[in-house]
Amino acid sequence: MKSDIWHEIRDDLIEAVGKENFRNWLEAVQMVELDGGIAFFEAPTQFQVDWIKQNFNETILHLLQEIDSSVFRIQFSAAKNSKTSNSAPSNGGDSNEAANQGDGYRRWMRLDPEFTFESFVVGNPNQVAYHAACRVAQNGPIDYNPLFLHGGVGLGKTHLMHAIGWALRSKHPNSSILYLSAEQFMYEFVRALRYKNTMGFKEAFRSVDVLMVDDVQFIAGKDSTQQEFFHTFNALIDQKKRIVLSGDRSPGRIDGLSDRITSRLQSGLVVDLHPTDYELRLNILQYKFERFTNSGGNANVEAGVLDFMARRISSNVRVLEGALNRIFATGYSMKRPITVRDAGILLADFIKASDVKIEIDEIIRLVAAYYNIRVSDLVGAKRERIYARPRHIAMYLAKELTRNSLPEIGRRFGGKDHTTVIYAIKRTEKLIVTESKIDEDVEILRRRIVE
Ligand code: ADP
Ligand code: MG
Repeated sequence: MKSDIWHEIRDDLIEAVGKENFRNWLEAVQMVELDGGIAFFEAPTQFQVDWIKQNFNETILHLLQEIDSSVFRIQFSAAKNSKTSNSAPSNGGDSNEAANQGDGYRRWMRLDPEFTFESFVVGNPNQVAYHAACRVAQNGPIDYNPLFLHGGVGLGKTHLMHAIGWALRSKHPNSSILYLSAEQFMYEFVRALRYKNTMGFKEAFRSVDVLMVDDVQFIAGKDSTQQEFFHTFNALIDQKKRIVLSGDRSPGRIDGLSDRITSRLQSGLVVDLHPTDYELRLNILQYKFERFTNSGGNANVEAGVLDFMARRISSNVRVLEGALNRIFATGYSMKRPITVRDAGILLADFIKASDVKIEIDEIIRLVAAYYNIRVSDLVGAKRERIYARPRHIAMYLAKELTRNSLPEIGRRFGGKDHTTVIYAIKRTEKLIVTESKIDEDVEILRRRIVE
């Protein structure tokens, strides 16, 4: 009974806090009692308890109350009877727990069982990252360190890191693999400072074989955390331990990272996950669709629905999955197959969100601002590279992101001929391949424009 209500709010909770937060902080939480309006929960470690209280208390309480209005308070404590005895008693035994922090981290920073190499669909936009991740997972001689994966949200960074974790774990069950988000890293560090256990902290981190820190952009600007991170990082590299990091952009582009860190991060292999293209989206949808039906799911959709989705929904795979789940959920209640037309109606909000009308003027404005030049120069005739390159890139993006014809694009760029636009597009395509700086610029701009 008591755990039923915890189970009942699960989906809403995931929606409220996000899948990632749920996985990192709440998945392992258990409801132990509901007594006199107080709901008692246990989490594996004290720091997890602290974090949940700080961040999710209100949300959880609120959701519980929707189901059972008698609940007026919730209480969290660290689990007392863990077999490995590395969790703290809830009555303030923090030092005890801190001494065993290393194990604690390992135990609750779980890897999502869904995120494996087998379930990762490979295509042009992500194959370089995929192969780099596989190399790390083979655990041969270290030819580059760290591996830094970057790219926009929902493109598979976390998925690949977990996949590395699973692969290493199955091949080397005794090695210690630590995966955590940069946010968690900071939290542990702050906690260690507070409980005067920085030694324990250092020990715990420096004794791992493989360290994976997700979303490192989070520690940008947080100076003491950065420093500690840097020391940990150096210590591990010196010991020839593997490090895998991810960020929402390449190290050089993360504002507020110290130069030392940036150059250290760049010293390994930096690879990016590009936004998905149509082909990858379709393959991902087909793969997930098959997996759903193979595991007994009943999904009755007409041919063409997946293709429609791959064409019309954004490049973010997480969003794509959300759309597919809605199709699955609806499939159960429909008596007939879902048609493309149904899908259009069902997924209208997904489609609208990724179909925002992008204006050429907006592209021109953003590209000019990005390169710090005037709009009049961007659409003007000056041939110096500092004007010509941004102009070419803006034309390239206008072709990619809007439905305007080449002559129309030329016209909007100060009355140029459509052959000029073709030249600009060809030129930019070439530069993207040969100059990684341009490749990144285009990607950042694309993201700014689309957002
Ligand atoms: P990121 O960390 O880059 O924001 P995630 O790794 O969390 O993105 O991926 C978001 C979701 O999309 C996850 O559910 C993940 O399994 C899925 N996903 C991303 N890329 C792929 C892929 N190539 N094949 C299968 N699933 C993918
Ligand atoms: Mg992620």
